[in-house]
Amino acid sequence: MQTTKTLIFRAAVAIMAIGMLFWFSQKNRTVTVDGGFRMTMGTVARIMVTAENQQQADKAINAAVDEIFHIDELMSDYDPNSQLSKVNRHGFDQPVPVDAELFEVLTVAKLYSCLSEGAFDITIGPVVQLWRKASENNIAPTADALQKAKECVGYKNLILDAEKQTVQFAKDGMFLDLGGIAKGYAIDKAIEILQNAGMKGAMVDIGGDLRCFGMPANGKQHWLIGLQDPGDDEKILLTLNMDNMAVATSGDYRRFVVIDDQKHSHIVNPATADSANDLSSVTLIAPTATAADALATAVTVLGNKKGLDLINKIENTEAILLDANQTKKHTKTLGADQYIQND
Ligand code: ADP
Ligand code: MG
Repeated sequence: MQTTKTLIFRAAVAIMAIGMLFWFSQKNRTVTVDGGFRMTMGTVARIMVTAENQQQADKAINAAVDEIFHIDELMSDYDPNSQLSKVNRHGFDQPVPVDAELFEVLTVAKLYSCLSEGAFDITIGPVVQLWRKASENNIAPTADALQKAKECVGYKNLILDAEKQTVQFAKDGMFLDLGGIAKGYAIDKAIEILQNAGMKGAMVDIGGDLRCFGMPANGKQHWLIGLQDPGDDEKILLTLNMDNMAVATSGDYRRFVVIDDQKHSHIVNPATADSANDLSSVTLIAPTATAADALATAVTVLGNKKGLDLINKIENTEAILLDANQTKKHTKTLGADQYIQND
């Protein structure tokens, strides 16, 4: 009798142990799912997740992609029907009501304008437009045209009413260009969705700007981010080890305008209306992609010294700069080394 009882007890313990082992192994089972490439925001987006199973991963990736498409729809300056285009058309005549996402990105953009003392400024639209046209016609903008466009620039003339969620321009001729922040914002919103969907980890990349969190892909220790050599598409200059951080790169090596055989950066200094050509690439590491994106643009305008000074003052934020003349030489903020992988 005693023996049978003991046997039953032992069998029960064994079944429980096997059950727990099974539960534990299922709980710790992880798949890495690559969402593939999708065209959006004038570039390519890619999402990669680590999750408990494929089905859960696919569902979360689709929801995150939908959010990126939605943000592109709201903020595109190519689409005349986007909310941003409507603000640009009617903003001086009347306050224009906008969706929460657009209002949020405008509010945050203004904060980065203040922080960078106007080096980052989404009211740069009229000047950027002049440089784009100049590139199409291969004729540099006249000093007069640049001066006139510059007079319309100024983030302080962007009126945001938080209660009514409306946007208005204090000056005629103003218009907004979100090219320096929209990708970062879309990345952050996608990450938020992936976190809420219970992903164990994820990386969202839009045009080389990205953010990651949690368990890295394919059992690696970190999310690994290669920094491209501005002079050679095939070459990786540095590898960054990332966990729960965002990286954005601004530079003249991928997007620029050429006038009379001279390269001009697509980033413009609001103070001079001239293109910002001193740095060939600026990589920003920050807790959010919105911050990394906006600050990378700001540092490109500020140049080496002022740019590093600004980033050194901001907590948890680092920069790696490549000089326009000596592309192999990089300068960086005090804490940047912690992310750079030593070969
Ligand atoms: P990329 O789009 O190559 O990643 P950025 O994030 O730096 O580079 O964004 C550059 C874009 O930002 C430009 O194409 C333009 O639309 C816009 N822009 C240019 N100069 C400024 C500026 N001083 N402040 C804010 N946005 C800018
Ligand atoms: Mg940017």
